[in-house]
Amino acid sequence: MREKLLAICQKYDIPLLEQVPLKEHTTFRIGGNAEYWIEAKNTEILSELVRLCRGENYPCFVMGKGSNILATDKGYQGLVIHMGNDFSAIHENDGIITFQAGISLAKASKYAEEHSLSGMEGLSGIPGTMGGALYMNAGAYNYEMSQIVTSCQYMDEMGNLQTISADKLELSYRHSYFMEHPENIIISVSVRLNAGEREEISAKMRDFLTRRNEKQPLNYPSAGSTFKRPKEGYASRLIDECGLKGYTVGGAQVSEKHAGFVINWNHATFADVMELCANVQKIVEEKKGISLELEPIILGTYQKE
Ligand SMILES: Cc1cc2nc3c(=O)[nH]c(=O)nc-3n(C[C@H](O)[C@H](O)[C@H](O)COP(=O)(O)OP(=O)(O)OC[C@H]3O[C@@H](n4cnc5c(N)ncnc54)[C@H](O)[C@@H]3O)c2cc1C
Repeated sequence: MREKLLAICQKYDIPLLEQVPLKEHTTFRIGGNAEYWIEAKNTEILSELVRLCRGENYPCFVMGKGSNILATDKGYQGLVIHMGNDFSAIHENDGIITFQAGISLAKASKYAEEHSLSGMEGLSGIPGTMGGALYMNAGAYNYEMSQIVTSCQYMDEMGNLQTISADKLELSYRHSYFMEHPENIIISVSVRLNAGEREEISAKMRDFLTRRNEKQPLNYPSAGSTFKRPKEGYASRLIDECGLKGYTVGGAQVSEKHAGFVINWNHATFADVMELCANVQKIVEEKKGISLELEPIILGTYQKE
């Protein structure tokens, strides 16, 4: 595989990185190495990579900001394609704004703010990319990707570009079509925003950021909320009511500041986080009769209990 990946990289004059520590590319700061890592430069290169991996039956994973990824200690035996700055263009046409998948939500929201467009205020503080946000149907403070997306362009497993409209994206709470079709790569996301008052938009963004700073343990590495919101109540409240704030396994800890966040308190391993989460799930199930589901995407191989 190395020779074939190298051939593509040499053809396009881009680096093939090897044994890349996932802890340096995920906000949780956890995980072993990815065997190969390539920065996505354009759709032509992406298409070649996708076709190669498919033809060789070689695992391939797309990463944005790594802010919802829990990488295993053994790492990932495959190719990570990183969608970043080279996929961060913005186009506006007839009231529809198209953001390329690698742009950060912060930058996309800034654009909306500067153009007095409302609809992204609550998304502005989420530390991911547009692609990752659509994949997760990210949301906060009663804002969600599903409310603004009109369509999306993606690359299928044959390396061809496709367009899918919002009604086919199966967007529901922290769920999208792409979760069942992870072989696809989101290239761009089109959204419809509403004309608004710039001052009002800015004030809301500032308010949401202040709330994040006040409530969330942002001084520790994490993947944000560790558990999805169950049908009944909030994960953080349930965990708190079970007396689990500060509960620690190895270097992983239920944040004292926000019980919904598991933090990498002190050089946590994947195993620490998984053990801690399993115990939290067990206790909440026993005491409250509610089962909690992990939100972050697990990347890499591990031994399931
Ligand atoms: C401090 C903190 C606060 C957070 N607050 C929130 C919040 O308020 N609300 C919320 O919803 N989330 C929150 N999150 C979680 C996270 O930021 C979001 O889920 C975000 O949308 C993930 O984007 P990303 O680019 O980091 O994706 P990644 O973590 O890189 O990837 C997540 C998943 O998306 C897939 N993916 C990424 N890009 C693409 C692409 N271009 N094509 C196909 N698949 C892709 C990946 O393969 C992976 O399966 C928070 C995280 C942190 C650390």
